[in-house]
Amino acid sequence: MSDFTPMIKQYLEIKEQYKDCILLYRVGDFYETFFEDAEIASRVLNIVLTGKDCGKEDRAPMAGIPYHAAESYIIKLVDNGYKVAICEQLEDPSKAKGLVKRDVVRVVTPGTIISDNLVGNKDSNYLSSIYIDGENASVSSLDVSTGDTIILRLTNDIDYIYDEIVKINPSEILLPRKLSNTKLFQRLNNNDRLVELMLDDEYDLDRYRKQLLEQYGDNTDLIDKFDNVSLMAFGALLNYVLDTLKISNLYLKQPEFETKSKYMEIDNFTRRNLELVESIRSNKNGSTLLNIIDRTKTAMGGRLLKRYILNPLYSVNEIKVRLEAVEEIIIKKDLLNKFREHLAQIYDIERLLGKLNYNNANPRDLIALKESLKVLPDIFNTLCGCESDLFNIFKEEIDTLDDIYLLIDKAIVDDPPNTLKDGGIIKTGYNDEIDKLHYLTLNSKKLLMDLEQKEREKTGIKSLKIGYNKVFGYYIEVTTKNLNLVPSYYIRKQTLANCERFITEELKRLESDITEAEIKLTTLEYQLFMEIRNKIISEIDRIQKTVFVIAYLDVIQSYAYVSIENNYVKPEINNGDKIIIKNGRHPVIEKLDKKNLFVANDVNLDNENNLIYIITGPNMAGKSTYMRQVALIVIMAQMGCFVPADHAIIGVVDKVFTRVGASDDISSGQSTFMVEMNEVAYILKNATSKSLIILDEIGRGTSTFDGLSIAWAVIEYISIKIKAKTLFATHYHELVKLEDELPNVKNFYVSIYKNGDDIVFLRKIMKGSMSQSFGIQVAKMAGVPEEVINKAKRLLKSLERSEKNFNKIHEKSPATQLDIFSIYTNKIVELIKNIDINTMTPLDALNKLNEIKNLLTGGDQTRDEQNKNIG
Ligand code: ADP
Ligand code: MG
Repeated sequence: MSDFTPMIKQYLEIKEQYKDCILLYRVGDFYETFFEDAEIASRVLNIVLTGKDCGKEDRAPMAGIPYHAAESYIIKLVDNGYKVAICEQLEDPSKAKGLVKRDVVRVVTPGTIISDNLVGNKDSNYLSSIYIDGENASVSSLDVSTGDTIILRLTNDIDYIYDEIVKINPSEILLPRKLSNTKLFQRLNNNDRLVELMLDDEYDLDRYRKQLLEQYGDNTDLIDKFDNVSLMAFGALLNYVLDTLKISNLYLKQPEFETKSKYMEIDNFTRRNLELVESIRSNKNGSTLLNIIDRTKTAMGGRLLKRYILNPLYSVNEIKVRLEAVEEIIIKKDLLNKFREHLAQIYDIERLLGKLNYNNANPRDLIALKESLKVLPDIFNTLCGCESDLFNIFKEEIDTLDDIYLLIDKAIVDDPPNTLKDGGIIKTGYNDEIDKLHYLTLNSKKLLMDLEQKEREKTGIKSLKIGYNKVFGYYIEVTTKNLNLVPSYYIRKQTLANCERFITEELKRLESDITEAEIKLTTLEYQLFMEIRNKIISEIDRIQKTVFVIAYLDVIQSYAYVSIENNYVKPEINNGDKIIIKNGRHPVIEKLDKKNLFVANDVNLDNENNLIYIITGPNMAGKSTYMRQVALIVIMAQMGCFVPADHAIIGVVDKVFTRVGASDDISSGQSTFMVEMNEVAYILKNATSKSLIILDEIGRGTSTFDGLSIAWAVIEYISIKIKAKTLFATHYHELVKLEDELPNVKNFYVSIYKNGDDIVFLRKIMKGSMSQSFGIQVAKMAGVPEEVINKAKRLLKSLERSEKNFNKIHEKSPATQLDIFSIYTNKIVELIKNIDINTMTPLDALNKLNEIKNLLTGGDQTRDEQNKNIG
C-alpha cells in the first residue's frame, strides 16, 4: 500500500469499506472507477478503459463517467445487478490544502432507487426483508419511492414465503446470512433479484424497538401490531435503507399488516398461468388481465389495481362494498366521466412526496403537486353526488388540502426552472425581502443601460456597448476603429480581433451591487423553497391519506369504465358453495382474438353433485380457455370488479389453483414431470372445500397408464377427501367412467361439428363426453402433409381394429373386460408368460388351464361397462 500515490491510497481506503459495491470516486467533473471496478464499468457501460499512474510500475486500470450524465450510467450498473457507492469531494478543491476530503454520500441498490420518473410509471419498486424464527416468518417490504410499507406474517413454509416474494416482486431482498445455504436462498437468488445476506449481528430487537418508537412516535396501537418476527424483518429493512441512503429519517406510510387469510390465495404458478399481471410469453403484449382491465388515470391507481388483482378479497362484505360503488357510477355515468377527467389531471403525487422528502424535488415538482391538488375540490364535489358506503368513506377521508395548494400557488411562480440554486422560483408578493431584491436587480439593469447611454454620449462612440462574460464580468466594448475616442479613465481588460474591452470604476461598483443582490436573491429563494418544502413535509400524513383515496377511487372508476366498455355484469357474491356463471367469457381472449366471435359458456359448480367437471374434447377445442375463464371470473368478482358474463353467482373461494400437465406447459419449456407432480402434491396438501382447482391435462408427462392412473387417483381423492370444486380437462377418455363411480363427478365435452374428414370447432361446452380425439383432423387443419395424414389414418384404423378384436375376446367373460385397473388381466398374462411348454405334461397343461379359468371367474363382475360416450 505504501508506494501508492496519495489519491489511490485514499481511494483504496474508502473502497475497503464498500467492497461489494462499484465505487464511483469523484475527481473534478468525473466519477472515476479503478482496478476491477474499472474493468466491470468499462464492460457494462461500454466506456473506455484507460490507466492512471498509481505509484506502482503498472498503471491502475481506470474508467470514468462524466458527472452531469452520471444518473443513466448508475441506473445501468444497478440494472445489471451491481450496487453503486457514490463517493463525493467533501470540500472545494480550490480551497483544500493537499488531498481533497472525500467520502461516500450514498449507496444505490436495486431496491433503493428513488425514481425521477414522475408521470406514467405504474410499477412499484420494492425492497423486501425476510426473517424466520421457528414456526414463524415475516416478509416486510418497502417501496422507497412511494413509502408503501407492507408487513406480512406467515408460518414458516418455504412455498408460502417464496410465493409472497414472487407476488411482491421486489428487486432486492434482505436475508439473514444463516439462511444462505437453505433451499429458500437458492429459489430467491435468481438473476432478476439481488439477495443481500445480512450479518446475523445486524439483527437487534431492542434497537429496532427504539427506532420504531422514534419513527411512529405516540402511535402505540400501531407499534403493538408488530410481533418479534415482523419487527426483526422490518427493523433490518429500515436500517438497510437508512444506511444506503445515508439519511436519518425515512419517508414511510403507515405499514399495512397482512395475513394470508384476508385475501384469496393465488400461488405463483397459478398467477403466471392465468396471466394475471404478466404474460407467459414475453412477446405477447396486452395478453394479461391487468392490461385488459387497467383503465386507471393515475400512476397511483395503476399500482393499486395491480395489487388488487394479485390480492382478491375473501370477505363478502368487503367485496360488496366495492361492487356497489362500481355499480353506482356505472348508473351515474356522468359522475364516472367527471372522475376520469379530474383524475387525469393528477401527477404521481406519491413519488413526488418521496422526492420532496429526500430533498430531490425541484420547483417544477411543486407545480406538479399544485396542479394535482387543484382538482381535489372538484373530486370532493363529484363524490358528494355519490351515496354508496365506499364513496362516503372517501368523502370523509379526502382532504382537499387547500392550505397546501394556496401555499404553493402564492409562493412559486407558474413556470419555474427545474433547478433550485439559480433563483427565479418565488412569486412577487410572497416575501418583502425578495420583492426588494428583485426591484434592485431589475433596477440595476436599468442603471446599466443608463450608464451605457451616458458613456456613448460622453465619448461620442455610437457603437459602444456594455456586455458581460463569466471571466471579466461586465465590460465596455469599443470597436477598433473608435479606439482613438476612448477616454483615459477606461481600464483595458481584453483585446479581441476587431474590438477592445474596458472597465471603469463606476461599472465595477454597479457590478458588485448587482451581483450582491443576485446572490442574496438566489440564497433567499432557496431558503424559502426549503421552508415551503418543510411545511409540506410536516403535513405528509394528510396528503398520504388523500393520495390513497385518489388511488382507490381511480381503481373503482377503472372497474366501472371497463365494465361498461366490455359489457361486464355485477356478480352476486355470497358465502355459499355455488359458482354459477351464465354465458361467461374469457376477458382476455374475447378481446385479443378479434377475428372470431367468442362463444360464451356456462358453469354450474357446487359442493354437492357438481363438484368436479371432467372435460374432454379434441386439441384446440377450447378446454383450457373455458377453465381459465371460470377462474378469472371468480378472481375478478372477488377483486370487486364486474365480470364478463350475462349473470354470475359466486360463493367466495379461498384459494385458486391451476396446474398444467408437463407437456402442455409452454411457460417454462423446462417443466418436467417431477415439477408437475410437485405442484399436484402442493394442491392436494393445500386445497380446501372452499377452493377452486383447475387441472389441465395432468399426467401427460409420463407413460399413458402411469398418467391415467395418477389422474384417476387424484380425482378420486379430490372427490372424496378434499371436496374442492374442480375443472379437469383430459385426453384420457377412460376417466369419463368416473362419472358412474363418484356421485359428484360430471362429464362435459367441448363440441365440434364433423363434416366428412374436417371438423369445425363449435366451442360450446355440453354435457357428456367425447370418445374420439380427432387428433388427425387437427393435424390436417394445421397443414401436416397429406401423405402423413393418410398414413396416420390407416394406422389408426388398424389400431382400432386390433383393439376391437382384443375387446371382443374378453367380452365373452364380463370379468375380463379391458380395464387397466384389473389386477386379474395382469396376473393371467404373467401366468401364461411363465409357462414352459417344452417341459409340460398334458396334465400340467390342464391344471394350468383350470387355474386360469378360476382366476377369470373370481374377478370383479359388478362394474357396469356401458358405453355412454357421445361422439
Ligand atoms: P384446448 O385447451 O382444448 O386445446 P384452447 O382452450 O387452448 O383449446 O383453445 C384454443 C384456441 O381456440 C384459443 O386460443 C382461442 O383462440 C380459441 N377459443 C377457445 N375457446 C373459445 C371460445 N369460447 N370462443 C372463441 N374462441 C375460442
Ligand atoms: Mg389446452
